[in-house]
Amino acid sequence: MKYRLTGWVQNTNENVLIRVTGNQADIALFLDSFQREAPPASMIEKVTVTETEAEPFTGFSILHSHDVSEDITEISPDIAVCSDCLEDMAREGSRHDYSFVNCTNCGPRFTIIRDLPYDRDKTTMQPFIMCRDCREEYQTITDRRFHAQPTACGICGPQYEVFLDGNRANAAIGEIILQVSTIIDNGGVVLMKGLGGMHAACDAFCDTAVAKLREIKNREGKPFAVMFRDAGSLREYVNLSIPEEQSLLSWRRPIVLLEIKNGKAGRVAGNVNAGLSLIGVMLPYLPFHHQLFQHLKTSAIVMTSGNFSSEPILTGNQVALDQFSHLMDAIVLHDRDIYNRTDDSVVRIIDGKERIMRRSRGYVPAPVRTTLNTDGILAFGAELTNCFCVGKGRKAFLSQHIGDLQGLETTLFYEQTIDRFLQLFRVKPSLLAVDMHPDYISTKTAGKFPGIPLVTVQHHHAHIASCMAEHGLDEKVIGVALDGTGYGDDGHIWGGEFFVCDLVDYNRITHFDYLPLPGGDLAAGEPWRMAVSYLYKVYGNEFRKLELPLFHEVDPEKIEIVVRMIDRDINCPLTSGAGRLFDAVASLLGLCQTATFQAEGPMRLESMALTGCHESYPFETLPVIRFDNTIRGIVDDLARKTDIKIIASKFHNTIISVIFESVNAIRNREGISRVVLSGGVFQNKYLLEGIMARFRKNLFTVYAHTVVPTNDGGISLGQLAVASKRRENKCV
Ligand SMILES: [Zn+2]
Ligand SMILES: [Zn+2]
Repeated sequence: MKYRLTGWVQNTNENVLIRVTGNQADIALFLDSFQREAPPASMIEKVTVTETEAEPFTGFSILHSHDVSEDITEISPDIAVCSDCLEDMAREGSRHDYSFVNCTNCGPRFTIIRDLPYDRDKTTMQPFIMCRDCREEYQTITDRRFHAQPTACGICGPQYEVFLDGNRANAAIGEIILQVSTIIDNGGVVLMKGLGGMHAACDAFCDTAVAKLREIKNREGKPFAVMFRDAGSLREYVNLSIPEEQSLLSWRRPIVLLEIKNGKAGRVAGNVNAGLSLIGVMLPYLPFHHQLFQHLKTSAIVMTSGNFSSEPILTGNQVALDQFSHLMDAIVLHDRDIYNRTDDSVVRIIDGKERIMRRSRGYVPAPVRTTLNTDGILAFGAELTNCFCVGKGRKAFLSQHIGDLQGLETTLFYEQTIDRFLQLFRVKPSLLAVDMHPDYISTKTAGKFPGIPLVTVQHHHAHIASCMAEHGLDEKVIGVALDGTGYGDDGHIWGGEFFVCDLVDYNRITHFDYLPLPGGDLAAGEPWRMAVSYLYKVYGNEFRKLELPLFHEVDPEKIEIVVRMIDRDINCPLTSGAGRLFDAVASLLGLCQTATFQAEGPMRLESMALTGCHESYPFETLPVIRFDNTIRGIVDDLARKTDIKIIASKFHNTIISVIFESVNAIRNREGISRVVLSGGVFQNKYLLEGIMARFRKNLFTVYAHTVVPTNDGGISLGQLAVASKRRENKCV
């Protein structure tokens, strides 16, 4: 033993017990080594040390595991293939070039688990009977594959196969890799089964291939993620900070949103990321990806979810063949079933920290640890970017990213995953938490659990509570929730909200001014509608005389219809949504009149903002926050032919000042200096970094999301926290 200690170690489903005898200094060194030398994917929550009578152990042994309670062990998220396993693939033997190699440090976990305890029989590896060598490793306590449930080799494990025109063409891995890489290098599009679902892939440098892929997926404009060969080839195209590189290379292997280097934008096909300065990038995480890049000439491939837009990522082999055989140049499948569908996770480094935008593969189902009694609470989440959450003890198990609950397939996935989480984590719901919106599918789904008490939580209160729960806050705070849409308790559409709140309740102190939202939900997809709404409010009928890009890009008749809708109050709900203000400004600057993906206007606007500009526009904060003078300032700057980048920066600076001044006024009155920020608008790096710096400089303590999405994907945690606290206060 490295530390000259004797004793034993034992795994239980609650913790790891270690008993050692040795001299004090050696024991201290040993304890010190835990964090440093722990396997990459392990998580040490707490180390408790107790002194007992010295026992004269001989040597160091691993005792058999046993269950100490009815409680469950946590389930590990899926882990990217480790370097030892990659070395096994390069060596002669039964794992030479074997695409399903894994060990206790890497491989599939959540995606293959059907039930607990985590045992091979309860995974989709069950049909594969271990060969003699694999079994021997599996049973050898000192082996890297000791109790590695998905362990396999080329003799006994799963295999890939490739289909052309729906017919099985090849099942030898060398030939499959050669065939698939040749198709991709020649501009073809391939569907590939992976860990949590299918990916559609093509050369990221080839416009026509990317266009073909968009066509197959129903022409969606949403930016595609790109997988690069390695960090070295990626560095040619983007500037990588240390935390960005750490996220990219972590065992979770998320998609990381990165800034493209100036002048290099033309190198990746422009239709990959809608011409934005941001690109979503990941590095290979499956053995198969590494094999593919050994043969691919291109250093980057588009890796987007294999599905039609608005449907969840595909997992089933037969469905893939039925739907895509006539569309794709090849389909690569394997015979290990995907039980729990997961998308690639998305993160962005903001203010030096990893912020999760989409929480799925590599992160789920690791719990979020809270300070609250969450036991038995089932929180249903929001409507778009849905993710639900179940409570057990003080833990919150957030589901993987489910998606937008508007398509039938996604709703089925949602219901099925709720059932699976309740089963997997042995949770019997005793309290339900839903959004206040009566028409959300998530709210209606709660109706399928009759007889259980129900808590309704206002959307933006849930946002703030989510961020509070993440940071263990349970007190009165100033909450700033900025997003696109959420049902307000006055029946209007909220989204620019300033609260004084705790986990039980909130007091709305101020908000962005209400404006008509012409066409309701339609307006989110057509930013020009909100621009007209603002212009008409600020300039009245005179707005038509202004010289703006929107008058050249939108049918004048449509603009008149919108004006009449506002005049007669036809389908014009009132909104205070911050996202709609960003939409309006994106339209005024001619950046986006019709969105081809969610939040396109705000993303294009952020893309334009420059550091180094410190000007801003005027605004009013009383009685509510009004942007009339901001709009005037922007229109005047446009008339003066001011650079759009300067206008975009000034607009962002204005929002930072609005937030700061509104919060500062609340502090002066209420004496609270803890500020909690949440809502999709805070995915904006320029904005979040700017406001965090401003708050810190003025001695506020400011909290933003890190491990839970700031967008609606984080709502369910907030619902759960509010429900827990109301139950504790007996107001359920
Ligand atoms: Zn490994
Ligand atoms: Zn084997």
